[in-house]
This record gives sequence, C-alpha cells and structure tokens, in this order.
Amino acid sequence: MERLLQNLFDLSISEIKKLDGYDNANYLLKAGDERYIFKTYPFDQELLEIIRAETAVLNKIQEGHSGEFPRPIPFENGEFVQVHSVKGSAQICRLLSFVDGQFLGDLNNQPEHARSLGTFLAKLDLALAPLNVTVFKARQWEWDLQYLQLNKKYLRAIEDPSKRSIVAYFMQQFDAEVLPISKDLRKQLIYNDTNEWNVLIKKDAVSGFIDFGDLAHSFLINEVAIAATYLSYDKKEPLPWIASFLAAYHQILPLEKQEVEILYYLIAGRLCTSICNAAHSRLSQPDNDYAGSSEEHAWSLLTKWLEIGPIKATNSFKKAIDMPISSVDGIEKKIERRNQHFSSILSLSYAQPIAMERAAFQYMYDAYGTSYLDAYNNIPHVGHSHPRVVEAGQRQMTRLNTNTRYQYDLLAEYSERLLTKFPKELNKIFLVNSGSAASDLALRLARSYSGFEQVLVMEHGYHGNTQLGIDHSHYKFNNSRGQGQKTHIIKTSLPDIFRGAYREQDAGLKYADDTIAQIKNTEKPIAAFISEPVVGCGGQVPLASGYLKPVYQAIRAQGGICISDEVQTGFGRLGDHFWGFEAQEVVPDIVVLGKPMGNGHPIGAVVCTDAIAQAFEKGVEFFSSFGGNPVSCAIGMAVLEVIEQERLQFNAASVGAYYKKLLLQLQSEHASIGDVRGSGLFLGIDMVQPGGTTADTVLAQKLKNELRERHILVSTDGPYDNVIKSKPPLCFNKHNALRVVETIDSVLKM
Ligand code: PMP
Repeated sequence: MERLLQNLFDLSISEIKKLDGYDNANYLLKAGDERYIFKTYPFDQELLEIIRAETAVLNKIQEGHSGEFPRPIPFENGEFVQVHSVKGSAQICRLLSFVDGQFLGDLNNQPEHARSLGTFLAKLDLALAPLNVTVFKARQWEWDLQYLQLNKKYLRAIEDPSKRSIVAYFMQQFDAEVLPISKDLRKQLIYNDTNEWNVLIKKDAVSGFIDFGDLAHSFLINEVAIAATYLSYDKKEPLPWIASFLAAYHQILPLEKQEVEILYYLIAGRLCTSICNAAHSRLSQPDNDYAGSSEEHAWSLLTKWLEIGPIKATNSFKKAIDMPISSVDGIEKKIERRNQHFSSILSLSYAQPIAMERAAFQYMYDAYGTSYLDAYNNIPHVGHSHPRVVEAGQRQMTRLNTNTRYQYDLLAEYSERLLTKFPKELNKIFLVNSGSAASDLALRLARSYSGFEQVLVMEHGYHGNTQLGIDHSHYKFNNSRGQGQKTHIIKTSLPDIFRGAYREQDAGLKYADDTIAQIKNTEKPIAAFISEPVVGCGGQVPLASGYLKPVYQAIRAQGGICISDEVQTGFGRLGDHFWGFEAQEVVPDIVVLGKPMGNGHPIGAVVCTDAIAQAFEKGVEFFSSFGGNPVSCAIGMAVLEVIEQERLQFNAASVGAYYKKLLLQLQSEHASIGDVRGSGLFLGIDMVQPGGTTADTVLAQKLKNELRERHILVSTDGPYDNVIKSKPPLCFNKHNALRVVETIDSVLKM
C-alpha cells in the first residue's frame, strides 16, 4: 500500500492506518504535518462515474469553505480519481484532505450545535444549489428520500410484524401526503446525509462535513428532514431540537410552507429508510454490524413520531420559523356547524368535545395539534389507519366492488377464513354492514328456526339501533326516555358478582337457576336467549363464571336457540379467548359480529348452524346491498391476517394482564376504585363511594374528563355511568398501559 501510494502521489508518507468503512476501505495517511484520507472502492463503472461527479462537486465548493469539506488531492498526473489493482482486484482510488474536528456523535449535544448545524447546512445548500450534475439527476436509489418506495422491497426483512406495520404505515402516508405535491417541490443538489458521524464540531460550532458519497439531486426539504432526523433521533424530546435547527436554517435559506407541511412525513421516511436498510443488511451481511448502528435510535424516534403525530409536529416546525399555523375553526364553531344539520340525539363525548383529524395505531390527533392515547375505541381493532387494512381496501376498490348477486371468490375466501375461527358446527355466515344489522338478522333467524316469538334478554344488554335491536336491548328500552319493555321480551338479571344479588364462588350457578326458573315459568316458549359474554353497556360486566352452560341447556330444552353478541368482545380482544363464549365453555347457535371486524370499515356478520340457515331459506329472499361486498371481504380478510401476523390476541392477553395488574394495585391504594374487571384489553374500573358498592358517577365523569384533558381517551358506562371502560386497539403496549394507570393515579390524588 505504501509503495503504491508513494508511486501515485507526490507525498512522503510517514504513516498509514486502516479505518472502519462500510462498503469501501479508508486509510488515514500522514505526510509531513498533513493528514489525508485514501479511499478505495471495488470497481464498478456506475460507481466510478458517481465518484468522479462527487469529486467535481467537492472541488467546486472549496471556494470560501476552506477546511470545511474534504478537498480532492490529485494523482501525479493531475487526475482526482483512478482505477488501480490493489491486492489483485481493481479498485477505484482517490485521496482527500483530512477534515479536522470532533464528531457530533461523540459530543453531549447542546442547543448551539443544532443552531450551528442549521446555519452550516443552509450555507452548504446555497453553495450546492447552482451545481447541475447529470449523474446525480439520473441516480435513483434507496437513500434518496424522493425514492422512498424503493425501500419497500426490504420491508420483509423487518422481523417483527408489528414494527413492519409501523414502517409500512409511514410509507403509505408518504404516498398520500408527499407524492401528490412532489412536482411542486424545489429540487437541487443536496448533501443528503447529515448524520452525527458526518458532522464535525470545533468550539461548539459545526466546522465541517465529511463523506459526500450520498449527494443527490432531490427535494431541498429532504436535506432538512435528514439533518432533523439524525439531530433528534436519540433525544428524549425531539421537537425542540428540530425547532432550533430549523430556525437557524430558515434564517439563511427560507423554507416554503408546503415544504414544512411535509417535513413530518419526510423525517419518518428517512427513519424508515434507515430501518429498512439495517434490516436488509442484517439478512444479507450478517457479519457487518456497522449498518445497524443507528437502528435503535431510528426506532426510538419513529415510535415517538407516532405518539406526537403530524399536526403537533408541523405546528412546532412552523412556530420555530415564525410561519403562521394554518387557521382552524374553533371547536365551538365546528360544533355549531354540525348542529345545523345533525340531530343532537347523537351525542359528542366529553365536557370538552374533540375535533378529530387523523389517527394512527393507538393514537388519535385533533385538529389543533393535540395527540391522544386511544385507550377506549375497540373498533380500530388492529390499530387506526393500519396500512395493511387501508391497502386491502384501496386495492380492491380499484378492481371490483359489487354485491352478492354475482359470484366472486373473495366472498368464499373470506367466509372460509372467518369460519375457521369458530367451532365446526357454526358453519354458515351472513354478511351485513353493522352490529345492529347483524343482531337484527340473528333475531329473525331465531324466530324463523324456532317458530316462537318471545326472546330472553340480558339486563343492561345492548344489541343495536334497529327497532328490533332496541326492543331487545334493556339498556335502551329501560332508559327513562326509552320505549319500555315489549310483551314478548323477558329480561333476566345480570349475573354480576360485584353489585348483583349473588357474589360468592358459585354465584354463576345461582344466577343460572334464577334464569332457568324464568324460562320455565313463561307461558309461551322462548325463541332465543341473546346476551353479550361481557356486558359492555352494563359496565364491562363478565357474566358470572358457569352461568351460560345451564342457561343454554334450558333454552335449547324448550326449543329455543342461544345467541352470543360478540360485537365488542370478539376477535381476540379478551386475550385468552378469540370469542367471549369460549370462556364459558359453551357453543352458541348464533354469533353476532361487528365493530372490530373491519377495523372501522362497516362490516357485521351472523354466524350460525346449518339448520338455522336452512330454516331461514324457507322464507323470502334475504339480500343486503353492501353485505359481503368484495371491498368489505378484502378488508375483513386483512384484519384477520393482521390479528394473526402481529399476534394481537397474545398482545391483548399479555398487555391486558399487565394493565389489569397495575389497575388492581391502584385499587389497593384508592378506596374509590370498587372493582377492576374484565380480561385482555376489555377492562372496566368501577368507581364507588369508598367502602361499598355505591356507584360514584360524579367521580367517574370527572376521571373521564380529566383523562381527556391529559390526552387519554376512555369512556364511562353502566347503569350508573360510573364504570371507566378501557378497550383500546390491540396494538396497545405496556408503556401505554402504564401511562393510563399513572394518570388515573394522579387524577385520583388531586
Ligand atoms: N351489539 C353490541 C354488543 C354493541 O356494543 C353494539 C354497538 N355498540 C351493537 C351490537 C351494534 O353495533 P353497530 O353500532 O355497529 O350497529
């Protein structure tokens, strides 16, 4: 090596030291008082052209920036890049001056560093702006953010499916938010790799950059996004760091509104690029750990990014550069507008209603830049805006959407897949568009099968908003403003071991005895018994253990059928069981499904036995315009796939157990928590007057609203509206659970 170098350059080299390198070799040379970096790269024609172009750029930006960037040192014949045989293989070779300073990555960062970086980078971008380099214009590669989608091929390399979904989410957001405006964005030559190991610091100010190997002709804002990413990805609170940097950059090179408005997505895009390439390298070069060095930080920021959300981040960026924040109507004005045409019979949650704008996984973002932890909504079962579900719907919408009067294979595929989740005797399915439509149809099926009219319903049960649904929902017909109990409805007491008549070990059997006595005492036979396995509107009350088995037997003995309403409890939410009825070791004749089934897309279903379906076939045709349409089937299928791939039932069990343990601990510290019940991610916290079971509605309402003020969403329910309900998306994690419990604790201590 020494001989080669002595021959090539007009230098008297005193020392050669090999340095770390990713896909090329670097050597530190000493010659007299000067230091140099000699770089060799395995020969590749395209790379040779890129290195020549990079060298030309480095030469052009030296003027006025002495010592800030590597300066190409010519070979003896005046060329800056040559190909030589090194250890028997052709290598592209070049020599650069050594740029002195401490790496930003080696320092305990100060806000001055962020400001100085902004100034330095903006000046560099001004120097790069006039350079028009064809090689870079033509280059399309994974590390140029405008081509983020090239990284999609590496998604598979991310082992954890839940993490893969987060990356896929941000890639999808990039398509939706960045690509449509990309033709309007400023483009120029950019440095494209402002990370902490390329930035040098002297006396607390940025003194130089090294490694111009990632130069790109790209959106100017990508430059800003990349620097913001690496500056903040290891920080506890990233936004203030980015703000300091942006303010300084903007002073030298003012940013445009449309650029700032996509910065959130570009920062996420860079994190995704880094994560994808690290995952890919791990697979393709298992011995090279260099590639993954920033992966942990990238995950740390990407997770925070979800929690922060685009609106809060964008507002913070705009504030940093004194750019006006987009004006949004106040909540009162928005509500006034809503109320002009929308009946007040549909309520808004919370004393201070929320103007929701966007949501991702377990987070929801309001119009004003507040991010909420969703500890309540069970409909976005696999997470708000889950990319797999969104993509399934989008793709099928571009192909075919029609109804069940035509044959399409998706219908059979989805039906088969969903039915694998049920005991084999439940082998027929009717697809509809809501839980209400499903329970309505279930009741019709029961009547047509049994030939009877009467229905036994559960106290505080809720099954839907159709007339049939209301008639069979004690929660509604029993309300002071409700329609009252119809003569063909029989209500049985909620087998509640906290506040009900029986609370001991064998309470379930005692409640069952009472229900059976009711069944036996009716004059006319009962067509069906309908109940949720955990009564949601009743205040998250699991039916006392052992209750359903004898009741189901008694109903069947007199010719009726048993319906389990799994609209809230189904699809793995309860953790230990995919369906709530499994916990009671029964198999219903009909199961009603809804809410989580489409992750927010309106689908519901009735699953029943062959015999029940056959009895119904004797009547008039059943048709639902939308039920079972191909788009809904594709979405339903995606939901099932995500539940399995991301092991969300297991997550519900493990996070739910942790969550419940924390809540039980809290109960031991606060006498106002009377009961903590439920399983998996379907929990209820019963607020009481200390020492008894008397409901404390005022406290529950206060707690709900105080949590909302602290950006956590829960709701209340139960006959006294005193039970805090928590039934979050199943991607909820332990850190989320801890946050909820600590916040409840702090509110109760107020
Ligand atoms: N059954 C149960 C147990 C429910 O909780 C609900 C909705 N809250 C329904 C049925 C009705 O579903 P939908 O609102 O989709 O019509």
